[in-house]
Amino acid sequence: MTHPVQPVAIALGSNLGDSSGTLAKALDALAHIEGVTVQCRSSWYRSTAIGPVQPDYLNGCALLQVSLAPEKLLDCLLETEQRFGRQRAERWGPRTLDLDLLFYAQLRLDTERLQVPHPRLRERAFVLQPLAEIAPDWVDPVSGSTVQDLAALLGEESLVERLEDSH
Ligand code: AMP
Repeated sequence: MTHPVQPVAIALGSNLGDSSGTLAKALDALAHIEGVTVQCRSSWYRSTAIGPVQPDYLNGCALLQVSLAPEKLLDCLLETEQRFGRQRAERWGPRTLDLDLLFYAQLRLDTERLQVPHPRLRERAFVLQPLAEIAPDWVDPVSGSTVQDLAALLGEESLVERLEDSH
């Protein structure tokens, strides 16, 4: 069944191995999925990991155009994580690739497998800062605030460093 094309925002993170290579390859893999177009990505940002002591993360966000249902898109994200060898030994532990579905158009979804918007995006500078770079005016359907305003609310608390890169 074909699905109408919808704008989607995702977050990418990695803190094991060649993280910038992994994030780039993951986006390339997503771009090859039928029904997924990668529109753009943010810069990569370095952030301090939460949870057990572990290396810093490399984080970023991307905007997609997607003609897949949300659950099908989640399957694709999880498969891509697996493909890049994500280890799930420890909750909040280090990982070669983490992909999160942040927004799916203005949809609100709360099932056992999938919550959209992502429930923790409003408290995460490492999500909001890169997202504000590429989608400042996206309105969060839960709070009614723009990404730019949500990012500004976190302000000084941010532990995120934008890296120089060309993309
Ligand atoms: P985590 O290891 O913290 O990234 O959690 C991954 C699990 O969270 C997946 O197996 C999903 O079923 C679930 N999940 C719920 N909502 C989302 C979302 N918006 N994006 C990614 N995973 C989600």
